[in-house]
Amino acid sequence: MPDNCVTILNSVTRFLDRQHGLYINGQWQASQAEQRLAVYNPADGQQISSTADANAADVALAVSSAHQAFTAGVWAQRLPAERERILLRYADLLEQHCEELAQLETLEQGKSINISRAFEVGCTLNWMRYTAGLTTKITGQTLDVSIPMPPGARYQVYTRKEPIGVVAGIVPWNFPLLIGMRKVMPALAAGCSIVIKPSETTPLTLLRMAELASEAGVPPGVFNVVTGRGAVCGKALTEHPLIAKVSFTGSTPVGKGIARAAADRLTRVTLELGGKNPAIVLQDADLQQVIEGLMAGSFLNQGQVCAASSRIYIEAPIYDRLVAGFEQAVKSLSVGPGMDGSTQINPLVSLAHRNKVAAYLDDARNKRAELISGSAGPDAQGFYIPPTLVINPDDSLNLAREEVFGPVVNLIRVADAEEALRKANDTDYGLTASLWTTSLQAAMAYTPRIQAGTVWVNTHTLIDANMPFGGFKQSGSGRDFGPDWLDAYTESKSVCIRY
Ligand code: NDP
Repeated sequence: MPDNCVTILNSVTRFLDRQHGLYINGQWQASQAEQRLAVYNPADGQQISSTADANAADVALAVSSAHQAFTAGVWAQRLPAERERILLRYADLLEQHCEELAQLETLEQGKSINISRAFEVGCTLNWMRYTAGLTTKITGQTLDVSIPMPPGARYQVYTRKEPIGVVAGIVPWNFPLLIGMRKVMPALAAGCSIVIKPSETTPLTLLRMAELASEAGVPPGVFNVVTGRGAVCGKALTEHPLIAKVSFTGSTPVGKGIARAAADRLTRVTLELGGKNPAIVLQDADLQQVIEGLMAGSFLNQGQVCAASSRIYIEAPIYDRLVAGFEQAVKSLSVGPGMDGSTQINPLVSLAHRNKVAAYLDDARNKRAELISGSAGPDAQGFYIPPTLVINPDDSLNLAREEVFGPVVNLIRVADAEEALRKANDTDYGLTASLWTTSLQAAMAYTPRIQAGTVWVNTHTLIDANMPFGGFKQSGSGRDFGPDWLDAYTESKSVCIRY
């Protein structure tokens, strides 16, 4: 590690050195497969740890443990207030171990330690407490009905929200803790059991969170973690017959495969998938605010954010000024390891992903696109890609329409708002978008015309537990967050009483 990097905690070193197993039934268990999966530090390409490579038999054991816990009612039948207290204690434990978890996240994922502290840990904490509170607010309805038989009979109907059963959670590598807990917490708040699979690239923080769940008082079997490859472990988990619901966050192609397999059993599915998110900048926008907001919106976590702005449509009168401002901002970004808190751009998550993003840039270069890049980063073995602006890319470029998921953003000149709206909506995706304007009239007129699950005005990428989040079109189905979040983890039962 370079001199200016954060000092690694002893607890982190000890955790990395462990021979990690699978977390099943409240304890560590060895995998039945001998092979292990290496975990690498993206900043230097060195192996830092390894995890089990769970096979279908391991997954079956974890699902069976979760199912037994669910049918025995060890969690769902606790008083809601008891579950709430345990989940709040769980959040307190994360807070006590915040630096440890932030360091683990930066070491396995590559992102800045500042982002790990503020987002991975800070936002997760807020969201955990919000979701714990939902435990005591599960409600149904009482309904008057008009059933006319037999003559003289009277009926009263009420609905109950009951936990759906065993949930399978599949987590991507970009925000492993944050997105992982976005599956664990609503499942536990609703009274479900869960088996969760982190990405093989970034498995460490969820393994640590499993231990903390037991310490908080979550009963054995209710929260299980299996580590392994998506095509083996993930597939076995999502297709297991005892899984009642799959909560998946990841790429659109894998999400579609999961939805197809789920259709066979009508397993409930929530899908949070990819995006190619537009930002529309009107000529009356505050340009300084645009540059600050969209630099963050585009380059947070090196652009490895499903909600990131990756296509910026700019009205012609301000186009040259804005491109000059973005160029200056991109060239001033410092690039280096995430453990050095003074750096702003850090390595991508893995060599494979780095190469995928590099291929998009090579394709653009070969087709003579105009690229403006910032610093290439340290001359090390790390998985770096320079932050890059693509000027007015032609539609024939792969990066014009596909999700790059890297520090690459397209700047596109448009004649007016109508052209911007048409181009913004001309995509199979519909996750997020932003509109930049000082005109209230424009904001109110244009936001309904943007096809996206979240539309921000004069900001981008801000997410809150009380704000539903999910995609239109091929960006997914279902919503995370918000007061109705637990509906996706419950079944509604109508009870009809004759009196
Ligand atoms: P992938 O779809 O490749 O992987 C996501 C998860 O699915 C990983 O845990 C992976 O395991 C697992 N997986 C892979 N194949 C299968 C399978 N056949 N069955 C079950 N599970 C499987 O996505 P990435 O990890 O590359 O994540 C990036 C993608 O996630 C981007 O497209 C991004 O937009 C999207 N995303 C969406 C978000 C949203 O809220 N809409 C938020 C964050 C990311 P393994 O890695 O071990 O192979």
